[in-house]
Amino acid sequence: MPDSIVVRGGRVLDTTGERTVDVLIEGPVIAAVGDGLRGDRELDASGCVITPGLVDLHVHLREPGHEEAETIETGARAAALGGFSAIVAMPNTEPPHDDPAVVAAVLGAGTRSVCDVHAAGCITNRRAGTELAPMGELYALGVRIFTDDGACVDSAGVMRRALEYAGSLPGAVVAQHAEDTTLCTGGHMHEGEWSSRLGIPGRPAVAEAAIVARDCLLAELTGTRVHFLHVSTASAVELIRDAKHRGLPITAEAAPHHFTLTDAACASFDPVFKVHPPLRSADDVTAIKAGLADGTIDAIATDHAPHAVETKERPFEEAPPGMLGLETALALALTELVEPGVVSLADAVGLLSWRPARIAGLSDHGGPIEPGRCAHLCVIDPTVTWSPDPARLASRARNTPYEGRTLTGRARHTIVSGEAVVVDGEAQR
Ligand SMILES: [Zn+2]
Repeated sequence: MPDSIVVRGGRVLDTTGERTVDVLIEGPVIAAVGDGLRGDRELDASGCVITPGLVDLHVHLREPGHEEAETIETGARAAALGGFSAIVAMPNTEPPHDDPAVVAAVLGAGTRSVCDVHAAGCITNRRAGTELAPMGELYALGVRIFTDDGACVDSAGVMRRALEYAGSLPGAVVAQHAEDTTLCTGGHMHEGEWSSRLGIPGRPAVAEAAIVARDCLLAELTGTRVHFLHVSTASAVELIRDAKHRGLPITAEAAPHHFTLTDAACASFDPVFKVHPPLRSADDVTAIKAGLADGTIDAIATDHAPHAVETKERPFEEAPPGMLGLETALALALTELVEPGVVSLADAVGLLSWRPARIAGLSDHGGPIEPGRCAHLCVIDPTVTWSPDPARLASRARNTPYEGRTLTGRARHTIVSGEAVVVDGEAQR
């Protein structure tokens, strides 16, 4: 590894604004920002935007338990190719992150991978929704986000106890997969016109809104932070907007597929479009975009959910839910949000970088790009067009719903702790 890298000719964009300057990296840190800097190695950033590395709050890495679909190593590589310098691994592995030994193993494997891997911890043992996981022990390992993701904490009493306990752990946040199980069991897509037409049992929007409303009240009661994962409905956006106006400690994320695709895609009966919460109506998509534009939704998180090819080839109702996201999230934000003028480029980068970094308490990530800071950077080519090819993804799985779409914008270089892990769109290890 060369001693120093200079990223030359790009426009730096961070929380402090925009300016055209070079960035000099020495070892793991930013050494200087200015004009005419020299380094042992140069990375060309002309025509590009240099931003803090992207941060993904919501990634399924499948290790341990389903390494045929993804591993920590392959997932981290996919993340780096997508411009991410940090990701948070969700706890629904087998065994799950309710055991400090499992979390320690995930974090250990993460230190050998190409981006920073953080681990979310379970709220309840086995994610069964009944007794609290050893949250204090998980917290001691560095866990700050607690969630049973994939499963909703249906019991208000259990959620209250989790919030009361998390309230004693500085920086901890309880993240809810808001889908009331009793309203969703047996459902495979959004409940609406398309589900009736296709004869596929539905998962109603109210299943999300009911839990969001309840958990806003519990956040108010306990004073503990609640984060809503993959918000997908207009009614949930409205409830979160109101809760924030009332000053409640609420944050929320949206996944790219929930601002890009609608339930109409399920008409193909292609399980690549099956995901929980499901693809929603066009009105819901409009509301998600409005929530991203006005700050109601704090972050874009991928819910990257790899599945082995065989399982996604089953019939729609038997296939597992979830779709890949790490390598396409940035391009979808640029194509679906920035190009049409829904949000500015700076706001899109905020949704992908410094705002999620703050939610997860990752103070090394999210910039600003200034001397002394950790060198986690993403160099974005905002104008290049490309088309996702499942066969060329770094992820071990192939279940991208964006095959053949023309997307604008891509991460050109990704730098993590001063190491150029992606150069000109190619992973370096
Ligand atoms: Zn989820």
